[in-house]
Amino acid sequence: MNNQFLKLHARSGEGAVDIAIVGGGATGVELSAELHNAARELNIYGYSELDSSKLNVTLVEAGPRILPALPPRISSSAQSELMGLGVNVKTATMVVKADETGLTTKDGDKIPAQIMVWAAGIKAPDFLKDFGGLETNRINQLVVKNTLQTTRDDSIFVIGDCAACEQPDGKLVPPRAQAAHQMASRCFKNIVAQVASLEMKPYIYKDHGSLVSLSQFSTVGSLMGNLTKGSMMVEGRLARVVYIGLYRVHQIAIHGIFKTGLMMFVDRINRVLRPSLKLH
Ligand SMILES: Cc1cc2nc3c(=O)[nH]c(=O)nc-3n(C[C@H](O)[C@H](O)[C@H](O)COP(=O)(O)OP(=O)(O)OC[C@H]3O[C@@H](n4cnc5c(N)ncnc54)[C@H](O)[C@@H]3O)c2cc1C
Repeated sequence: MNNQFLKLHARSGEGAVDIAIVGGGATGVELSAELHNAARELNIYGYSELDSSKLNVTLVEAGPRILPALPPRISSSAQSELMGLGVNVKTATMVVKADETGLTTKDGDKIPAQIMVWAAGIKAPDFLKDFGGLETNRINQLVVKNTLQTTRDDSIFVIGDCAACEQPDGKLVPPRAQAAHQMASRCFKNIVAQVASLEMKPYIYKDHGSLVSLSQFSTVGSLMGNLTKGSMMVEGRLARVVYIGLYRVHQIAIHGIFKTGLMMFVDRINRVLRPSLKLH
């Protein structure tokens, strides 16, 4: 992306580079902020003619607000932060077409863009469609019962993003790392129960909250999610500390405390040694 940005900017001379991102979920929001950070960093690398004013980022969201999976107050806080950076946030805007000149919306409006990024959701690979006669949905996920067994074969369990698991409220479990992790634990217990001819338990998604990093500029999110009556909104420095803390907790889960301690030490050294931006 940085390379593209540099090439386009060199070609367009003094003009701005238009980048359109489709999808105002966490991925689109984080990318919008990161692009502005990248422009700032490129400036430090000596591209003095490059700054945020040469970057015209448009974030397009079909729904009424960005970050639809998070509480509305977090959406508006993130939107204000992005607009403060200079990102054009277009909500209630459905993209119907993309060509070499940019995007076209359902209302027939044109959003000019030299670089377009699709960040509007996931789809499982095509080979999963009707895989082995199993039930699949519109986006090729394998449909499972609440025990995580496929609807057509009790001996097959499915977990993670490729599982379409309906919750008691009728919504599907969201494609999140925390859901995949919880499903893995439930799936293990249910397989053991099946082998021992014991009763399996349903999987219920527990939302522990979400954090969205707006690059170096800010972090927003909610903690506890549906674990408490009202989720706790966090922003700025506190959210950043929680974000980094969570990352380290995940590292400890995978590598253990000693190795994570070493990684933290190496990361600290690399902050001095490594370039702050990958240029290729
Ligand atoms: C940009 C981005 C940011 C995200 N941020 C967050 C976040 O902040 N918090 C959060 O909770 N979730 C986040 N997610 C979602 C999270 O990454 C997923 O929900 C989670 O990784 C799902 O785990 P999984 O094991 O089901 O799938 P994956 O983690 O995608 O693992 C599937 C693996 O299978 C491999 N694979 C695929 N097809 C084949 C094949 N045919 N043969 C062999 N191997 C194959 C893939 O290479 C991959 O390694 C993010 C996702 C993206 C894309």
